[in-house]
Amino acid sequence: MLRRLLVVAICVAGCGHDHGPPTVKAKPTPTDNPAIRGGGAPRSARIANYKIDARLDAAQHSIAGTEVLTWTNTGQSAVDTLPFHLYLNAFKNESSVFWRSSSGSMRGAHASDSGWGWIQVESVQIGGVELVGKLRYPGLPDETVVELPLPQPVQPGQTIDVSFKFSEQLPEVWARTGYKGEFHMVGQWFPKIGVRVGTPGAERWECQPLHAFTEFFADFGTYDVTLTVPNTLTVAATGVLVASADLPGGTRTLTYRAEDVHDFAWMADPYMKAPLSGFAKLEDGNVEVRVYYRPEQEAFAKRHRDAAIAAIEKFSAAYLPYPWPIMTIIDPPLDAAEGAGAMEYPTLVTTAGDSVFARPGLRLPEMVTIHEVGHNWFQGMLASNEAEEAWLDEGVNEWADAHAMDDIYGARTGAIDWMGWQAEVFALRRVAAEDPGSIPTPIATAAYAFPDLDAYSEATYSKTMNALHTLEQTVGSVKFQAAMKAYARAWAWKHPTGRDFYATLEKELGQDLSWFFEPVFHEVAGLGLRIRSASCLPAHLPRGVLAGSADTSTKTIVTETSRPDLGAWVCSVLVENTGRIHIPLDIELRFADGASERVHWEDRGNGNWQRFAIERSSKLVEVILDPDNKIALDSPFTHRYRLEGDGAASLRAAARISTWAQTLMQLVGP
Ligand SMILES: [Zn+2]
Repeated sequence: MLRRLLVVAICVAGCGHDHGPPTVKAKPTPTDNPAIRGGGAPRSARIANYKIDARLDAAQHSIAGTEVLTWTNTGQSAVDTLPFHLYLNAFKNESSVFWRSSSGSMRGAHASDSGWGWIQVESVQIGGVELVGKLRYPGLPDETVVELPLPQPVQPGQTIDVSFKFSEQLPEVWARTGYKGEFHMVGQWFPKIGVRVGTPGAERWECQPLHAFTEFFADFGTYDVTLTVPNTLTVAATGVLVASADLPGGTRTLTYRAEDVHDFAWMADPYMKAPLSGFAKLEDGNVEVRVYYRPEQEAFAKRHRDAAIAAIEKFSAAYLPYPWPIMTIIDPPLDAAEGAGAMEYPTLVTTAGDSVFARPGLRLPEMVTIHEVGHNWFQGMLASNEAEEAWLDEGVNEWADAHAMDDIYGARTGAIDWMGWQAEVFALRRVAAEDPGSIPTPIATAAYAFPDLDAYSEATYSKTMNALHTLEQTVGSVKFQAAMKAYARAWAWKHPTGRDFYATLEKELGQDLSWFFEPVFHEVAGLGLRIRSASCLPAHLPRGVLAGSADTSTKTIVTETSRPDLGAWVCSVLVENTGRIHIPLDIELRFADGASERVHWEDRGNGNWQRFAIERSSKLVEVILDPDNKIALDSPFTHRYRLEGDGAASLRAAARISTWAQTLMQLVGP
């Protein structure tokens, strides 16, 4: 998901289009493509496999469904209870954890007073035995998790089938899933089993109630999903379409197959046009990209398609090839974009950013699409626990997105190339970020434990991206990108944790990086980097009553006249770092004659300050910390210091403002 800052969709003459009455849509043709490329061999352990049959009542925005979950205990301890997410109950009432932690609004979208949503389990059976009466809700009054005590434990290695019958009401969409008018975006909609985590033999369930800041965590598997919908709807879903049939009464069944995925979402709408498609060309074959959109958003559909194609090609080369044959992009109607837009599912994402202000060259729509497509790697394949370590998918993805955008659109024009203004993504995002030292929770905080959405967003997205960018610049970009590729390949189809991430990077980079990871990810730490003072004095030989010389015996005072200035300057620069994060630092000294010189402070382990003394024929006029902008973990606006007048500098307000402006211009153009 992408945070609110980037998902502003403006309904200027864009909402409330009259599309006329819905028409019957042509029956879609199933594909011959297997659900996973490369010969169809399983990529994952396929622990949780679903067969779902669901019927949509489009007028009531309700769904009736059956589900058979085939689940394998791949652990080394027996299981006597199965927990399931019932995510739609987040929208059931104001007592849900989700509601209490969001107050009914998210990213600018608000819950309506009439559009409540819920899911009701009507039957759950194992081996034909009805167990619905055994269900218990451990988090009441929250009903987003339900537990099923088992009549018989599931032993290690054993597989069981659990059969559900459920009915549900979709909410009017304000947080990812639901309807808006006749548009339906259906996500987090079926009973979904938790994940066994922990050391072998001592596994435990991870199945948390849905909180406003948390996303999702699930095991990989296969999905065979049959949707029955009115034939006036255009439908798109996770996976590939393997069967379609028209039924009497104006309904249609569409059957989808998805492999090695951990979620399934779908869209149904009467006004979406036939998808705009294209192909990403990978070394091992093509991936079809389809964009579903309403007619008034056609200009943006092309931009989303081209961005998605380029992103799939870049991410496939940088990490590992996209393994599925199709990527579907849903561009929600403008009045549903805040609620339903900018969300990732396997092989299907929703996008946003179709604003009248997003002129070509202002790449907000592209940024949203690339971010959501990127999640098919960082979460879709590397399926981290988003509730516990959201930075591992959001922040790592943001770092990867920034590289992809700068690669696709040009090193200095990745984010903006409009009317002479240019900006690359890292610099723009750094300037837009809050001072990381001001966030009261470390990056490595469970999503639900952040004090508010701003702290969650800053730490999880911007600070993580800037931290990785800083580390990359410190160890060298080529080496770091190779290490990230190795991380992706080592942990695809698994559930990597932060510790796995650190260990893989340390191994690949061949160095202990705990000096970086611990303060940056696990402490409320800032950099506190500042030029404490800088000044120059004329250089001359020592004056005064000098010891150990004839001058002393005769009490001769050596004066300015007898020891005149040497025509040079002795300058002193005092740099401090009052923060916890210590990173090797370059310092550029600029002199009045136009020359410059660099000095280096190996900050780490050498105390919190360092004085540099420089003697030169020309006077020092400016000091710049981190002149190559390698360090993105503090505000760039304290990195420049211009010596004034007599060389005894002080940080004057006017000087600060002028250096802020210079720094800004250096970072973002024009
Ligand atoms: Zn995201």
